[in-house]
Formats: sequence, C-alpha cells, structure tokens
Amino acid sequence: MKKIGIIGGMSWESTIEYYRIINSEVNKRLGGVHSASMFIESYDFQEIEELQHNGEWTKMAEILSQTAVKLEKCGADFLLIATNTMHKVAPHVANSVNIPLLHIADATAEAILKENYSRVALLGTKFTMQKDGFYLEKLADEYNLDVIVPDEASQDEVHRIIFDELCKGLIFDESKNKLLEIIDNCRNNGAEAVVLGCTELPNIIKTSSLPIINTTEVHCLAAVEKALAKEIKE
Ligand code: GLU
Repeated sequence: MKKIGIIGGMSWESTIEYYRIINSEVNKRLGGVHSASMFIESYDFQEIEELQHNGEWTKMAEILSQTAVKLEKCGADFLLIATNTMHKVAPHVANSVNIPLLHIADATAEAILKENYSRVALLGTKFTMQKDGFYLEKLADEYNLDVIVPDEASQDEVHRIIFDELCKGLIFDESKNKLLEIIDNCRNNGAEAVVLGCTELPNIIKTSSLPIINTTEVHCLAAVEKALAKEIKE
C-alpha cells in the first residue's frame, strides 16, 4: 500500500472526514483491521484564513510547498491538499516535489463524467467559485463541463456559512435551508447535479433537489484507489 501525504487542517472539520473516509474505505476493501498508511500535516487554520482573505497566495504557495517537501522526505508516495480552495496554489505545490499531487478537481471531474452529467452547479468559497482559472475553468477547459455558479449575493452567503459556521463545526438549520434554496435555484437554471466544492459543505448538506457530487468523498476515494493500485512493472 502506498503512503498518502495529506496537507490538511483547512479546516480540521473536513480533514477529520478525510481521515475517516480514507481509513474506512481501505478497511472495506482489504478487510481485517486494515487501515490506511498516511501522514497528515495540519495547520493552524486561523493563519491560513487570514492569508486567504488578504490575498497572500504567493506566501500560501510557499507554506504548502514546504509541507509538500517535508511529506515527501518523510516517505509519502503522493499528496493530497484536503481543501478545494487551496488548490489555487496546487501548480506551485506540485512543482516543488517529485511525487504526484492528486488534484481534487480531477477527482471531481471524473466523478461528474462517470454519472454522465454535463451541466453542474458549483458551490464553494468565493475563491473557488470565482472565474480565475484554478477550479471552474479546469472543469470547463480540461473536461468540457458546463459549470454554473450562484448569483453574487448567494455566493457571499455560501462563503459566509463556510467560514463563520462550518469551519467552526457549527451546523444551523437556517443555513442548511438557505443552501438548499440556492441549490434549488441552480436546478432551475438547468444544473443536473451540484458539486459541493468545499470540503466542509458535505457536513451540512446530505441530500438536495439535485444529485450531489461530494468533493471530500470523491477525493478520498481517488486517493484510496491510488494507494491500493498495483504498479505494473514492464
Ligand atoms: N475547506 C474549504 C474548501 O474546500 C474551505 C476552507 C479553505 O478556504 O481552505 O474550499
């Protein structure tokens, strides 16, 4: 089994889900008391959150890259960044190591295509929903998917719920209903499924009027697939 290196703690409310899903999937596949082999570097999210909101992406790219190098030195065979938003710096992180980085948007796109959806709604932080090329455009340009996002006011609301509530472990019915209403609007705009493109969103949204692509889950399952894949040697 390959060793997974996880860059996490963004927030720990979702990293704990990575730990749970990856270990239970390995156990489901291998039986016995098997569990995954992994390293997790978990940041103090306050520091990252402040850098995000100050737009200091170069600094964050440096921080995550240093962690990636450290995990590689420890013996990780491949890396995960356990958040959608921080994939904004994924190219820099990937270039700083010689082991692969399993990109969350690739795992997500593959899950969407497997279900034959072509038009999906994307919910996440404002950084993820913005059209600046790191997530939305990856799904559109590399996978030919039609991706819609909620209107500006709804994006603000989703962003607020993520940072003020979900990253603190707070789950409120009022916010859940607001998110479900936003998903309903996306459905009315022709979305065939909703991508929960923030790793904390599955903690509050379990079902909706649209089928759900849970990025936390698809990322974890792709990691297990890679960890258990047999290398074919020529
Ligand atoms: N975990 C979240 C995501 O998947 C948001 C927290 C962050 O900004 O990293 O985007």
